[in-house]
Amino acid sequence: VARGLGDVSEFRRDPISGAWVIVAPERNRRPQPSRRKGAGSPAPRFDPDCPFCPGNEAMLPTIIEESAGDAPPGWLTRVVTNKYPALSPDDGPPAAMEQAGLRMSGYGFHEVIIETARHDGDLSTLDAPGLDAIVHTYHRRFADLAGRTGIRAVVVFRNHGRRGGASLTHPHAQAIATALMPPRLADVVERAHAYHARNGQCLMCAELALELSLARRIVEVSKDFVVLVPYAAAAPCEMWIVPRRHQASFAEAHDGELVELARVLQRTLRRLNTVIGDAPYNFAIESVATPGADSQHWRLCIMPRIAEPGGFELGSGLAINPSSPEDDAEALRLAPA
Ligand SMILES: [Zn+2]
Ligand SMILES: [Zn+2]
Repeated sequence: VARGLGDVSEFRRDPISGAWVIVAPERNRRPQPSRRKGAGSPAPRFDPDCPFCPGNEAMLPTIIEESAGDAPPGWLTRVVTNKYPALSPDDGPPAAMEQAGLRMSGYGFHEVIIETARHDGDLSTLDAPGLDAIVHTYHRRFADLAGRTGIRAVVVFRNHGRRGGASLTHPHAQAIATALMPPRLADVVERAHAYHARNGQCLMCAELALELSLARRIVEVSKDFVVLVPYAAAAPCEMWIVPRRHQASFAEAHDGELVELARVLQRTLRRLNTVIGDAPYNFAIESVATPGADSQHWRLCIMPRIAEPGGFELGSGLAINPSSPEDDAEALRLAPA
């Protein structure tokens, strides 16, 4: 399969989600890091007004769990209920849709994963024990929430930078468990299911094999993970971290894979920092809640937030990526990690 790009625009379709994008590399080049550096003053180690800093527990709602650390304050990660939850378990799992399928009670869980006690910490610079604790916490929260009655999907995600949607500076991720199957995940599941029914194999495993053979969009290959820029990347330097072993749900990742994922994620964020500077980004683990399916295969998606979507995106649902996925992959591959 020839998949390439010259200096002309093209429509590309993501084989996993089915979403179309416009890749228009002559429209605008990838932003240079020099333009992005020096945004604001560095954060302090401790902020007396920050609810996530140690000692400020009175500002927190319920503490759900902590992972223990040797040094003060005695924890590496801490999970709390979101003070302003998007969804809540108070009403119990909904019995059914109402109003002709247009309404359902907002049942779910919304948690905040405080990733370090250090107000000025960052995933790209944390030490190995801190990183391991974070990825293991993602995994525990995912597995716990995914197993609860009435939950259809769990999304573990992180917003970095104000334009990435982070309202608090202190490093944190979030987990939302929802009683409604999110439409995009439903599309991904349906496409993977149909592909498996037609071809007898996992769509993501096939996509990984193709990308590895082409090598043009590969950023890093480790023992258990492949980092790549997707064929139909919707934004400059969008990346996926995909497990090489077939596994439907993030809940199936074993301990060795989680330790490696922590390292791979850190290297990937460092590459991103080198190529586009400390840009805002979102990442999310896209995974089905239920383990075991031959057709499904989870991944971690990293989406830099360099440009706000404009009116065309709003009116068409088509993203315009002003950067070539192949050029981005090369720059990221060559960047120090
Ligand atoms: Zn803080
Ligand atoms: Zn697979």
